[in-house]
Order: sequence, then C-alpha cells, then structure tokens
Amino acid sequence: MKTTPNIILTILSLIFLTTVFVGCDRPSEEGGTDPIVEPEEDVFVPEFDRDSAYQFVQKQVDFGPRVPETAEHKACSEWIKATLESYGWQVQFQDAIIEGFDNKPMNIRNIIATYNPEASERVLLCAHWDTRRIADQDTERKDEPILGADDAGSGVGVLMELARTVSHNPLNAGIEIVFFDAEDQGESGSPRPAEQTWCLGAQYWSRNQHEMKVQPRFGILLDMVGRSGAQFPKEGVSLKRAGQIVNIVWNQALELGLNELFVKERDDQLIDDHVYINDIGGIKTIDIINRPVLRNSDGQVVMNREENRPERHFGDHWHTHKDDMKIIDRYVLESVGEVLLHVLYKEVAE
Ligand SMILES: [Zn+2]
Repeated sequence: MKTTPNIILTILSLIFLTTVFVGCDRPSEEGGTDPIVEPEEDVFVPEFDRDSAYQFVQKQVDFGPRVPETAEHKACSEWIKATLESYGWQVQFQDAIIEGFDNKPMNIRNIIATYNPEASERVLLCAHWDTRRIADQDTERKDEPILGADDAGSGVGVLMELARTVSHNPLNAGIEIVFFDAEDQGESGSPRPAEQTWCLGAQYWSRNQHEMKVQPRFGILLDMVGRSGAQFPKEGVSLKRAGQIVNIVWNQALELGLNELFVKERDDQLIDDHVYINDIGGIKTIDIINRPVLRNSDGQVVMNREENRPERHFGDHWHTHKDDMKIIDRYVLESVGEVLLHVLYKEVAE
C-alpha cells in the first residue's frame, strides 16, 4: 500500500496527540486529580498451545503411576529432563534421601529447570510431579496407585508447554521451574502433623534451594489445573502470604475474560507445597488449585454461612481412579497457561 508523506505526518501527529492526551492528568469535578490513564502497552504475549500441553499430560500418564521409588517414576523424570533440555533449559535432578511418610528412608527426586540463569529478575513456577500411591478416596481398588492425570500430570504439562513456548519467544526475565516430588504420599486423616507426611519434596527444596543468581521475586504453584469444569478460587494461604501476587494473577485472568475459572471468591487455607515455599523458603508463593463448589445429594450448593461463600472441595476425581485422561480438558490447561504467559510477558519482563 502506498501512502503520501502528508498522510503519514497526519497519522503520526494524531498518534502523538492521543498519547499526550491519555497520559495527562486532569482535574476531576471534586477538585482532585483523576488517576493517570496509561496508554495500553503493546506487549507481545505468545499463544499457549493447548494440544501440546495435553500431550505432555498424556505422555506422563502413559508412563503409568509416578510413585516415588518406582521404575515408572524414574523413567518419567528422565523424559521430563530430556524434553526440557531439548528446549534449551538447564535441567538438574535434586536427589535426596529423606524421612518418608512412613518414617522410613525415602528416595526422592525434585526436578529443577532454569531459563535465563543470568537474569536478575526471576520467577518461580512449580508443581508436584509425583502421583498418589493409593486411591484412598475411591470405593474400589483403594490400595492401588492412581494415574494422576490431573493430580499431578496437569500442572507439569502446563509448565512443560510454557517452557517450550518461552524457548521460542525470548523473555528478558529468568524462570526457575521446580517439579516437587513426594507431595502426595501423605496420610489422610492421620493425627500426625501434615508436614511429616505431605509436601516432602517441597520442604526439602525450600531448605536446600539450588544455586540461583537471585531468589525469585515470587512463585506460582499449580496443582490440579486440568479438570473439566475447574474453578480456581483465591486460596487462603496465598491471600495471607502473597495477596499482591493473587491480585496480579486474578486481574490478568479477568482481563482475559477467564473469570468463570479464576473466580473472585476466597477459599479455605490449604496445605500444599506453597505453604513451605513461603514459610521455609521465604518466597512469596501462591497456589492455583481446582476447588469446585460442594453440592449436597440434592445437587444444592453447600454454603459456608459464616463467610457467606460456597463450601469447596477437591472434586470427585480426587485421589480416585477417576483421575485419568477422560477428565482432562484442553481449555482448562490452555486458560491457566495463557494467564501465566500474560503474567510473565506483561508483569515480569525486565
Ligand atoms: Zn493429591
């Protein structure tokens, strides 16, 4: 298309005038000043490929259950490492022998992937990668391990796809992805303190953080982010320890029109890996975790009357054999990945 110089000049001055105008303070009717309206920044945010993310979940499930100290667990860890290395990330295993959920020594493996190791603005993205050794919430085959497509395949799948996407779309900031082991081997309903049986890999990493140029400014944990019909309310510990990060993430989701997934209600305080990353590791970290509303046998929403909000739970697939590929929804994976990419490229870029 040809354009005469005069038209170009007119267009340029129009852009200039518009920019100045929206950038100006002007007195409001009350005599104060309205907040400055920043012109919408034109930041490039890459697309998130839902099919690729889905394949990363499928591939983990194809290994079988990923229970610590099993051959399937080991094979899956090697595939994760090789895959992330093929995208140019630096990957290391953090192997350790810890006191397990049964008080016996337990071999665990955290998987750590680093992008842009020299950047001094860093973010932690994490998920657990082990799957539960038993299906204790099921009515049958309770003593058999679950496939864990959602818990934990989905979080790992989203972050692997994010790693692939970032490798093709350079980001100035640095990222640490940590996949924690032994999150999900704990004892449900046990009188023992939660920290003795759950979230063991995250506790170990929080006390023994790998060498980083600087500590990440904040962290985002994903747990069960692939189930169809998922809802992510604002989890209580996240609000308490890292409320600002919750706001950044949920506002980003709102801008993307994802308010039916990232709902504005607050949820209970949950024990998950982020508790220890905050309290032991000293990194402000939030948890994005599926918590659908609880319904009674008549299908009515059970209310928390005191706080005037619905009661929530982990869903009917949680720690059962129903947690397989049939419940995974590409749209949910994509939505979470898209929000993370927007946070990275719009909020963290140096
Ligand atoms: Zn779990």
